[in-house]
Amino acid sequence: MPELPEVEVLRRKLKRLLEGSKIEEVKIYDDSRLKGVRAELIVGDTVLDVGRRGKHLYLELSSGSKLVFHLRLKGKLVYGLDSGDLKNPWIEIKFDTGNSLFFGDPRRMATLDLVKDLSEIKAIANMGPEPLNEDFSFDFFKEGLSKSSKTVKAILMDQSFIAGIGNVYADEILFRAGIHPERKAKTLSPSELERLYLSVKDVLKEALNHKGMSEYTSLFSDDEEVGGFDKFIKVHGRQGEPCPRCGAKIVRIEVGGRGTYFCPNCQV
Ligand SMILES: [Zn+2]
Repeated sequence: MPELPEVEVLRRKLKRLLEGSKIEEVKIYDDSRLKGVRAELIVGDTVLDVGRRGKHLYLELSSGSKLVFHLRLKGKLVYGLDSGDLKNPWIEIKFDTGNSLFFGDPRRMATLDLVKDLSEIKAIANMGPEPLNEDFSFDFFKEGLSKSSKTVKAILMDQSFIAGIGNVYADEILFRAGIHPERKAKTLSPSELERLYLSVKDVLKEALNHKGMSEYTSLFSDDEEVGGFDKFIKVHGRQGEPCPRCGAKIVRIEVGGRGTYFCPNCQV
């Protein structure tokens, strides 16, 4: 699943490709996961900017509307003359550049909404702060965790508390902080809280520096500008491999129904 770093990388690439482009034609092939999107409402609009909120990506249009994409697990955006490796796209948005933006999801979980205001999307209206913005302060973080009865892993992934962290980055953040994913958030000591807070920022910044993970950051089939953070992943998906810090075997458990990877020696 693309998380904050991958969606941010896609945003930057799409901004470069689409800013100032005009929508010439829209073909809708399957509208079952589309909400409020009709060709006549967006044809003729120009893309003023490309934004991101949490894991949502949106095109700001000259009419004042926003086209909001949520990729979920396997949703995909492809930019080019054809939809490439995206089979059965749901929508094709053709620009005056001659290229089109295709969107779809073989798992049928992704969504596309046309809204006037982002707050019309409930998940965005209820979303917590962006972890790389200034309003995500240590005091805010400490207070949220000390009141929560959730596990640390669950609260890191709770979009209404912090935006943009999913299953992969939650595991990496907890590994960096040396905290067991099943710990109750309110049992963290002041120094653990501080370590975890810094780990949230450091892991996400590092992932962004490496442009996220390759699988989720391509926009066309021969796109060479894809992320390389995959090889810096320390624990997620590495069950049975040695911990890069202590050499103990990384284990996999389920926390809240999600596959969770950690080092049983370093993370307490
Ligand atoms: Zn270890």
